[in-house]
Amino acid sequence: EYDHVRKVRGDNLNPALVTHFKKPLLIHSGHMQWLFDHTGKRYLDLFGGIVTVSVGHCHPKVVAAVTDQMNKLWHTTNIYLHPKIHEYAERLTKTLPGDLKVVYFVNSGSEANDLAMLMARLYTGNFDIISLRNAYHGASPYTLGLTAHGTWKYNIANGFGVHHASNPDPYQGIWGGYRDSPVQSTRANESTVVDGVCSSSEKYIGQLEEVIKYSIPKGKVAAFFAESIQGVGGGVQFPLGYLKKAFDLVRANGGVCISDEVQSGFGRTGEHFWGFEGHGVVPDMVTMAKGMGNGFPLAAVVTTPAIAQTMSHALHFNTFGGNPMASAVGLSVLETLEEDKTQENCRVVGTYFLQELAKLRDEYPIVGDVRGKGLMIAMEMVLDKDSRTPLDATTMMEIWDSCKEHGVILGRGGFYGNVFRIKPPMCITQADVDFTVSVLRHVLEQTIN
Ligand code: PMP
Repeated sequence: EYDHVRKVRGDNLNPALVTHFKKPLLIHSGHMQWLFDHTGKRYLDLFGGIVTVSVGHCHPKVVAAVTDQMNKLWHTTNIYLHPKIHEYAERLTKTLPGDLKVVYFVNSGSEANDLAMLMARLYTGNFDIISLRNAYHGASPYTLGLTAHGTWKYNIANGFGVHHASNPDPYQGIWGGYRDSPVQSTRANESTVVDGVCSSSEKYIGQLEEVIKYSIPKGKVAAFFAESIQGVGGGVQFPLGYLKKAFDLVRANGGVCISDEVQSGFGRTGEHFWGFEGHGVVPDMVTMAKGMGNGFPLAAVVTTPAIAQTMSHALHFNTFGGNPMASAVGLSVLETLEEDKTQENCRVVGTYFLQELAKLRDEYPIVGDVRGKGLMIAMEMVLDKDSRTPLDATTMMEIWDSCKEHGVILGRGGFYGNVFRIKPPMCITQADVDFTVSVLRHVLEQTIN
């Protein structure tokens, strides 16, 4: 069955691409939330190409817009202008609050965060940057420093001037460590639904204060990076109030605050278009990618005119950033999100998904925590609920593989690799949720017996 998958496995591909899966999938086509392999078998795609397919695989409206642009103009570089880039920048900035009005188009999340680091250093005149221990912000030489988790590191010196503050993690505890977890934490969902400030955010902020005071020369900060909900880190949600306090603290020490909305943006959280809005903060810069292009390489930094001004000291240049094709895709994604009422679908279907997964959590000892907002959902797997010890990698992979065999593709992540991530194209339905839950129930039953 996997014969022609084997044929494409070879020395001329990045080994990480071909060694990861025992039974690799060969995907031939996609439509909305569905993927089809070489045999024609259908899979419900609950990971959307790592949180990237936002409105749906080959969404007809996006296909039409791209085809139209393809016949007009593909590329000019950003030394010429074209109408689509204006239209797109205008529409994109309308979704953002405050003074966030200047867009720099690039091609990937890593590039966006690279540029945000540069701008923060130029604007503040400071060098030191803080990110969180469980964060993922990219894999370029600059952003690899921001990304804290060892999985992505190559053990060479990088990330000069980047410091990591311990991560708030309402499920695993204040230090994010299950072994010495000193805090009997609340469920993450409670901390997001409670209106007001979660009392435990005080404790989390102490860590950040220490980093500023003792690790950064003279306490002068250039920037603080945070995802509104940690994506690769396994759907970790900060207690309400944490980001607000963190932003205040960073700004009081000269830094700017950067929200990485690469995963949590474009309505995915259901409640708001941007994840940071759920925390009641307005960042100085927003970085975005993934869902922005529905699979087309497209990313951006949006910032204030004052911060953008510092970029006028030299010429910022990006060959492909915001080219006519990218702008046409981005614009049609924004239009489609609105026309299809995607954010509302995330809210309704996401809430239902969380409710149904919570039943599995109550039924099965290895489902430790179910959390999320909208269609940014995480299911943390444990050996048992008391110790919260992460489920081992082999069992995680068996569950993942078995779900796939039954036609459901999940994502994986988390600090200990023990979190299933559900971030599908945002067009899934309640019937898809029912299908997923029935597959998961069957697979979990097999796993524990
Ligand atoms: N930020 C976040 C929150 C991400 O999840 C990712 C990718 N997983 C990136 C940045 C980097 O994006 P890219 O892979 O497009 O460089």
